[in-house]
Amino acid sequence: MNSVTPAPSSDLIPYAKPQPWGMVGDMMIGAALSADERLWAPVGQDSWSRPLHLNVSAGYYVHLLRVRRSGLLQRHRHSGPVHAWVIKGRWRYLEHDWVAEAGSYVFEPPGETHTLTVPEGCSEMITLFTVHGSLMYVDPQGAATGYDDVFTRIEKYRDHFESVGLGADFVKQFMR
Ligand code: FE
Repeated sequence: MNSVTPAPSSDLIPYAKPQPWGMVGDMMIGAALSADERLWAPVGQDSWSRPLHLNVSAGYYVHLLRVRRSGLLQRHRHSGPVHAWVIKGRWRYLEHDWVAEAGSYVFEPPGETHTLTVPEGCSEMITLFTVHGSLMYVDPQGAATGYDDVFTRIEKYRDHFESVGLGADFVKQFMR
């Protein structure tokens, strides 16, 4: 009879080898929904963005959008996919008949143009967005009026962090 390997006292064994050379650093942001207002950059009337991950080598960004008003926010066309997780409140696109509310997941395909609105009666919405590529802001006929991507976002966050005393380079901790 073969001897039986004794069960390890614990299977909580960390990976023993080094991580690959060239790997970018990992990231853990505690209190992503921070009450520290300095971390929330204004991005419009009663709208703020809290950066979590600004990825300049793959061209995407992850942020929390917080809006404390109802009505029209913006109309835009996406060059890349977007994933959204609604944390609080609700919002909708005028082009769709659904309403995304707390707990909802939304996928926005590349190529789609839509008009973001917060319904009456919603005093605050917070959504985690992962945005690949760029948002091109457009008029109802699709004519471009501006754009945002990870690089314009970084510029805005740098200006904001500088203005609240954290320093422009505060943004670097979110970059990969
Ligand atoms: Fe969108």
